[in-house]
Amino acid sequence: MSTRYDVAIIGCGEAGIFAGYELMRLCPSLKVVTLDQGSDIYTRSCPIVAGKVKECIHCKICDTMCGFGGAGAFSDGKYNFTTAFGGWLTDFMDAKEVMDLIDYVDSINVRHGATDQVFSTDTPAARALEKKALEFDLHLLQARCKHLGTENNLKILQSIYETVREHVEYRFRTSVASIEVLGTEGYRLGTDRGEPVDCRWLIAAPGRSGAEWFSNQCKGLGLELINNQVDIGVRVELPAKVFEHITDVVYESKLVYRTKQYGDQVRTFCMNPYGHVVAENVEGINTVNGHSYSDPALQSENTNFALLVSNRFTQPFNEPYRYGKHIASLSNMLAGGVLVQRFGDLVSGIRTNEHRMSKSFVRPTLTAAVPGDLSLALPKRQLDDIIEMIYQLDKLAPGTANYDTLLYGAEVKFYSARLALSGELETALPGFFAAGDGAGVTRGLAQAGASGVKVARVIARRLSEQG
Ligand SMILES: Cc1cc2nc3c(=O)[nH]c(=O)nc-3n(C[C@H](O)[C@H](O)[C@H](O)COP(=O)(O)OP(=O)(O)OC[C@H]3O[C@@H](n4cnc5c(N)ncnc54)[C@H](O)[C@@H]3O)c2cc1C
Repeated sequence: MSTRYDVAIIGCGEAGIFAGYELMRLCPSLKVVTLDQGSDIYTRSCPIVAGKVKECIHCKICDTMCGFGGAGAFSDGKYNFTTAFGGWLTDFMDAKEVMDLIDYVDSINVRHGATDQVFSTDTPAARALEKKALEFDLHLLQARCKHLGTENNLKILQSIYETVREHVEYRFRTSVASIEVLGTEGYRLGTDRGEPVDCRWLIAAPGRSGAEWFSNQCKGLGLELINNQVDIGVRVELPAKVFEHITDVVYESKLVYRTKQYGDQVRTFCMNPYGHVVAENVEGINTVNGHSYSDPALQSENTNFALLVSNRFTQPFNEPYRYGKHIASLSNMLAGGVLVQRFGDLVSGIRTNEHRMSKSFVRPTLTAAVPGDLSLALPKRQLDDIIEMIYQLDKLAPGTANYDTLLYGAEVKFYSARLALSGELETALPGFFAAGDGAGVTRGLAQAGASGVKVARVIARRLSEQG
């Protein structure tokens, strides 16, 4: 026996949450269900964080990535007000609409406890920094940014959950296994719980954790997919003082540089002042990430950020996802997890071992990382790009190229294959919408949330037109 709903949402990460929120607001009488393979916001618990195990045991469903709040639940919630990065929604609608949607999602967060404090880039100090960076051919992408903080982010999500669950039915620990077209009746979702779910309107928001599964479903349904890029690099950790004159002004600086050696673009990404480096499990592969708390008592003395090189492929190989996974698995093979090396050791061509690490002035915040040699794991081209970028950053932030600057690897950012969608984020199948990172249209909280609101509004409008 199936159960029938007006709308079914796959995934309750940022995109699925805000789709549900907006449907609740605009069409409170609709019967809406959200299915997620993870748990609710109160019971998500990674065994490493809970102190039960030391390293990733590759849980079938990763509690860090899956469940209410999705991949962003345990992030520090850096919320970027921009169309310049964090997604490609301007390929589907104009920039003004995207910015309005981003502001709207922020207003809901604020209603549920988010801070009002915004780091503005339109200040004399930020403009001076942008000018200074240009002297070294470093290009500072300007965007207003909010830092919710890891601990506050969770509280905001809990508050939103308590509000939306009054109207939207949530089915946790329920994986959607298949999507079937029921003609004019809509869609049928096969689940691992046995009972299928039927719906008139379908919103797929499976995030990066569900991207591979979703791509396969789309291929099976004959929907067109365009492969995206994969970004490969390292996470840099250094004393917070080195970047203080930058992070105090713009909090998260996105600096882009084109290397002289290869002409490749390298960028800083996800900067965490006084933060912590963490391991992340992407479909069984350990990669690295970072976050930071708002509460000074929980902060570290280091700043961390990613340095990423973008890779696109055309012919005859066009599988960026497989390539990125392969590189990350190499550092896993060498270190049994995340690998860490001192910058000085890397450029001197020697492995960092436990003994050399113990002499480092920079204390690693990810203590489980194993000292090793990144040059055995990362391809030469990406590594050369990263080294050149570190020397360039050293001109803007002297100390970046210090011997003891720590590099963790590999950091890999996968982007889901992009689904061919209309300007309303609808697939070629009527009433079947896709939103968020899993559809390959976003790669950040702000645009993911915005895409969820957008599809909910389209459904609400069509329903009102139908009377
Ligand atoms: C450690 C970390 C830190 C980050 N920090 C930031 C940050 O500071 N700022 C920022 O802008 N972005 C950040 N991001 C990125 C941000 O979290 C994502 O862009 C955002 O969560 C995407 O939202 P989404 O709804 O598209 O997907 P997700 O948040 O990934 O949610 C997808 C949901 O779908 C569920 N799902 C998948 N497949 C299925 C299936 N078959 N059946 C049922 N359920 C399914 C998953 O369980 C998951 O809960 C961070 C990401 C990580 C991992």
